[in-house]
Amino acid sequence: DFVTNASHELRTPISVLLGCVQTLQGPARGDPEAQVEFIDMMEGQATRMARLVDDLLSLSRIELYEHVAPSDNVDLPQIVKEVVSALDQKAQGRGIRIEVNFAEDLPNVPGDKDDIYRALQNLLENALKYGAENSTVTTTIEIAAEDQLGQLPRDLRYVAMSVRDQGDGIAPEHLPRLTERFYRVDDDRSRELGGTGLGLAIVKHMVNRHRGVLLVDSVMGEGSSFTIVLPARIEPSVMRIPGSAADTGR
Ligand code: ADP
Repeated sequence: DFVTNASHELRTPISVLLGCVQTLQGPARGDPEAQVEFIDMMEGQATRMARLVDDLLSLSRIELYEHVAPSDNVDLPQIVKEVVSALDQKAQGRGIRIEVNFAEDLPNVPGDKDDIYRALQNLLENALKYGAENSTVTTTIEIAAEDQLGQLPRDLRYVAMSVRDQGDGIAPEHLPRLTERFYRVDDDRSRELGGTGLGLAIVKHMVNRHRGVLLVDSVMGEGSSFTIVLPARIEPSVMRIPGSAADTGR
């Protein structure tokens, strides 16, 4: 299924590119105005193919090392600041304000900086694509609440990093399928906005690698919220040693 879908996704821009080349060789030869138009179209299709190949490569790379949990600490607020600044222009283009809230005294989180950067970038790009014009997108990092933990083991602390938009929202029947490769709620809209349908699949694999969970909440007409819950590092000073005072409560 995956190979069929990926081939189909690549075939469309290839057909358009070939059509443009044939037009430039034939009817548009000697027509400078038409040439500009077709070359612009070719640039758009080539960019789309490049994005698709980049996402396919990211997906296959993350699948390769998904079983290797990262061990270095990551500075989540710093990553958020970097991603927000990289997407600032895109946000301004739609009149969207990105608000950032960080809780104080966040515990250390073991993670892979590139993975977390990429996951957050995908979520923020979606919020900017699917959020309403002139609205606000909010990125928050805080200690995860009990009701965000799902099946995660309760003997660890968790940090929740969320991206909330004020868009049209997503109907409940789509929510369980959003992280499937190439699953889109609205095919035409996703393509029009330059989407590959792979962004959330990549996020899910990255979150799995970090032994966390991805939560999606959405209210139609109000907006959507995507939250990455990641386990915090157990610091030696709070580690429980069987039989110790900390363990027995003495
Ligand atoms: P795409 O490249 O199409 O955006 P994603 O994997 O990132 O692919 O997302 C899958 C689908 O989920 C999108 O096509 C869109 O229909 C829906 N979606 C993702 N994020 C949002 C959001 N913030 N608001 C509304 N719909 C969203």
